[in-house]
Amino acid sequence: MSQAAKKMQENQTMNLFTSALKQVDPAVFGAIGHELHRQQDYLELIASENLTSRAVMQAQGSVLTNKYAEGLPGKRYYSGCDFVDEIENLAIERAKKLFTCNFANVQPHSGSQSNQAVYLALLQPGAKILSMALDHGGHLTHGSPVNISGKWFDVKQYGVRKQDGYIDYDMVEEMAQQQKPDMIVCGASAYSRVIDWKRFRAIADKVDAWLLADVAHYAGLIAGGVLPTPCDYADVVTTTTHKTLRGPRGGMILWNDEALSQPINQAVFPGLQGGPLEHVIAGKAVAFGLALQPDFKIYAQNVVKNAQAMANALDARGYTIVSGGTDTHVFLVDLRKQGLVGLDAQRSLYRAHLNCNRNTIPDDPQKPWYTSGLRFGSPAGTTRGLSAADFAQIGGMVADVLDGLKENGGENNASVEDAVAQKVKEMCARFPIYTEAL
Ligand SMILES: *Cc1c(COP(=O)(O)O)cnc(C)c1O
Repeated sequence: MSQAAKKMQENQTMNLFTSALKQVDPAVFGAIGHELHRQQDYLELIASENLTSRAVMQAQGSVLTNKYAEGLPGKRYYSGCDFVDEIENLAIERAKKLFTCNFANVQPHSGSQSNQAVYLALLQPGAKILSMALDHGGHLTHGSPVNISGKWFDVKQYGVRKQDGYIDYDMVEEMAQQQKPDMIVCGASAYSRVIDWKRFRAIADKVDAWLLADVAHYAGLIAGGVLPTPCDYADVVTTTTHKTLRGPRGGMILWNDEALSQPINQAVFPGLQGGPLEHVIAGKAVAFGLALQPDFKIYAQNVVKNAQAMANALDARGYTIVSGGTDTHVFLVDLRKQGLVGLDAQRSLYRAHLNCNRNTIPDDPQKPWYTSGLRFGSPAGTTRGLSAADFAQIGGMVADVLDGLKENGGENNASVEDAVAQKVKEMCARFPIYTEAL
């Protein structure tokens, strides 16, 4: 073979535009393959996770990743934006329909950046925020001292009632009247009950504060008609798109008052972000389109039924559910009665192929690294096709593992873990997911 022919063959084996990942980077390709197997063989019970559609992943992995599109559809700083405009407009129109609101910005890269943009749009540094405490179910971006929101704002936090685990609205009102916040933040990451948007609005009105509803966790249940939309009450609504909503990893901001359009849009860009991720926005458009289909309502209903079936099964085995149950996709188990630490429990369950996260419970005596609780969620399993009967069985398997751990004084219990892992793998095999990782 001549030198020139060899060179040509080499170019063919590594062509930037046609070579597949498998060929270009076997190390990364291999790890992605392992991740697919993990997702196939483990039951995902992390409440903030889901399994998005292959269609969403295809949109995300498309040529759109090449395009810069600073600005908004029809008003971009770079040319060549006709098709990304078309896609972003689809995402915006579908989002407005899903949540029944007048305006949407689908550009935030994440839930966190959605919140930052709202703070930047409506508040000054040092402004007063009233929000839910992290260890009572709130989120880091709602004013935790380790987050920019806690460093730049003057934050007071409400929580849930000790006796029943529900948000204490009277306490919220009392705190609001004392603090006179510029903004009240509602919405949570580990709160299983319906949030009373109307009551929050009434409290915000009494003290003339902005009301931000962060529905990152609940968006899919709102879109699916199981939970009320906060768009009728909150000035601004923020969300992620990858949790119960089952879209690509990202964020979104919704509002009704046109006067807020300029401050919010400008806070996202140029205030906070540069070029929007149009490939992710395409994934959002696809996910919103799917969420507008009638079967998404059934998914949303099943998410709640399944979480309730699992919580009931754990309750029947003597495990304490914070607030006594769930109206949503998520619930917390308080492990204090069993004397277990969240970290040990999470690790033991993972060895049994049950993946959840340790979580602080209200007024947790343990540090956040250890915790006294576990958080469970039904979205990913429901997407997979599991029924309420399957979730009741999962609750039983979780109880088996935790009982086994307790018997061994919080140490590994390999025999129980292995037996449950076997059953979980069988269940996973009955509900297959993607056949390919890419
Ligand atoms: C998950 C979550 C966020 C943050 O979303 P990221 O995309 O991880 O930045 C914000 N707020 C709440 C209430 C959440 O649960």
